[in-house]
Amino acid sequence: MKSTYDVIIAGAGPVGLFLACELALAQCAVLILEKSENASSPLKQMPFGVRGLTSPSIEALHRRGLLHDLEIHKHFKTPHSTPAKATRRQVGHFAGISIYEDKIDPSLWPYRLPGDTPPNIMSEMAELESVLMRRAEALGVVIRRGLAVTGFHQANDHVTVHSDDRTFTAQWLVGCDGSRSIVRKLGGFAFDGTEPTFTGYSAKVDIANPEVLKPGRNMTATGMYLQSQPGYLLIQDFDGGAFHQSQHAPTLAHMQEVIRRISDTDATITNVHMATTWTDHSRQATAYRNGRVLLAGDAAHIHSPLGGQGLNLGIGDAMNLGWKLAATIHNKAPEGLLDSYYNERHPLGAQVLDWSRAQVAIMKPTPEARALNTIMRDLIDTRDGATYIAGRIWGMFTQYDFGANHPLVGRSVPNFTFENGDVMGDLMHDGAAILLGDASLKHLADDYGIKHIPGDANVGTVLIRPDGIVAWVGVDGLQSAMEQWFTKQ
Ligand SMILES: Cc1cc2nc3c(=O)[nH]c(=O)nc-3n(C[C@H](O)[C@H](O)[C@H](O)COP(=O)(O)OP(=O)(O)OC[C@H]3O[C@@H](n4cnc5c(N)ncnc54)[C@H](O)[C@@H]3O)c2cc1C
Repeated sequence: MKSTYDVIIAGAGPVGLFLACELALAQCAVLILEKSENASSPLKQMPFGVRGLTSPSIEALHRRGLLHDLEIHKHFKTPHSTPAKATRRQVGHFAGISIYEDKIDPSLWPYRLPGDTPPNIMSEMAELESVLMRRAEALGVVIRRGLAVTGFHQANDHVTVHSDDRTFTAQWLVGCDGSRSIVRKLGGFAFDGTEPTFTGYSAKVDIANPEVLKPGRNMTATGMYLQSQPGYLLIQDFDGGAFHQSQHAPTLAHMQEVIRRISDTDATITNVHMATTWTDHSRQATAYRNGRVLLAGDAAHIHSPLGGQGLNLGIGDAMNLGWKLAATIHNKAPEGLLDSYYNERHPLGAQVLDWSRAQVAIMKPTPEARALNTIMRDLIDTRDGATYIAGRIWGMFTQYDFGANHPLVGRSVPNFTFENGDVMGDLMHDGAAILLGDASLKHLADDYGIKHIPGDANVGTVLIRPDGIVAWVGVDGLQSAMEQWFTKQ
């Protein structure tokens, strides 16, 4: 059957939009079906919509020429761009334990990020989505809002997708429809993991006596609270996740009870402008593909937002999947290429889930957790401890196992500046694979439809996948590395 689209994506969140851009860049016809009528929501705006973007996402945006479209991060102070100040600057946290800039030694990381870009910048979901939406539309992606995926059926060569009584067809369906993914549920994907321990609240309220709440992040006998500005509350209540699971909206009376109990004060809430809940259940799909149906982002893995990694994990999924699915659609994928999406991304997702579980474990209001928390606090106050923890959370150690011949293989390519002044990331806007090396390699690159760039003697021969991951270094073994990832034209 001739499908109207190559790919239908369920969900126009950041992951669905990023994936759509990658597929469209690779000449695929993409339709996004998005449940919500409206792109904007107070939860996607400051302060609750602020998300930390870490190195893999920063690199992905940089490589597609989108990083500088994000205005908001320019207004935040960042580790490498701020002059030293008398006060210590917090640049992240682990389980609520501050990580300070002056403790981090980036020379201990295997590589540095593009130019002077710090490994952790702030973005706003609303802005990120609007940048990605503009790019997707410019690339020809069709976005249909107010159409929830309600069902689908896959056949040998296509998938029929339903949104109530409407029907769409494509060769592939990708569920980027978030933590409660219908694609995952209907697609028969097992979603294994651990149960929640707390209900988290993000709320904007009026408080008659905000001064009774202590500044900063406060671990108390029953949970944690943080008042970032008067009336802006972040709360963790270790109720086993019961309130979040009840799916009740937090009322004024409820918020009042929770903040008084957690803070052990008489804080008096007079109005609730906005309140939402979240939790720390950690689950991951045991497969990311079932036939012609794939999962990416929160649809494939959920965990507590501690350490701020879900969005970064999802953008990494999209960057990894986009070129592989496009090659499959264009009949240019070597054996096993699409399955390498799961093989590479599932272990990374599992690590992130474990890191978020570890954080929750030492935030619990128990004596054992407090003791561990104190030990971690001491470790994070050392140079090695802070550098390691920040580096892990910010993705500085990420490396796929390709049976490497060189420490760079499996890692994100450094942002080389060549002798002629060209910068690596700027050469990747078209999403093509690249072979860096002398002129004698041009015919090999042409055979596989890969962009050949002379590079320079300092850099040598490097094969780079469209997602910016180094596939091979050096001439020995290059041919078989080409065959592993690409097909001859
Ligand atoms: C309080 C909080 C703080 C966070 N902080 C960070 C942070 O600092 N850094 C970080 O990396 N991550 C953070 N996260 C996690 C991050 O927000 C998510 O991981 C990210 O939004 C996932 O993107 P997504 O596109 O996969 O899913 P979503 O953003 O959930 O988007 C899914 C989209 O699918 C749509 N949809 C749902 N069902 C259907 C359907 N049936 N049909 C069609 N469309 C559908 C939805 O309307 C939505 O637009 C935080 C999360 C929370 C709750």
